Amino acid sequence: MMNKCDIVQDLLPLHIDGILRESTERFVKDHLMNCNACSNARIELLNSSGNWERHSERIHEISAQQEGEKAFIEDVKRWRQRVALAFISIVIVLSALSWFAGKSF
Ligand SMILES: [Zn+2]
Repeated sequence: MMNKCDIVQDLLPLHIDGILRESTERFVKDHLMNCNACSNARIELLNSSGNWERHSERIHEISAQQEGEKAFIEDVKRWRQRVALAFISIVIVLSALSWFAGKSF
């Protein structure tokens, strides 16, 4: 024997989208009125689809934020490279100067 609840819960997404055939829709509605497990499953599905929309908005926010952070990190990297280059050239100039100074003494 097929479990009615399984069938109804499989049909729930279609029921929520309102694309069930009239006779199937009636079957699902009748069952939902008499079955707590399935009507709870329907409520959960409704809630989770709402949550999903909120969730994907949040993902958009986060990825926009991450893009900003990436650009920031790139800036920091470039800045560090410049500082490192400046530091290296200072060291070279200083050692050259001290070499000259050592020679002249
Ligand atoms: Zn049921």
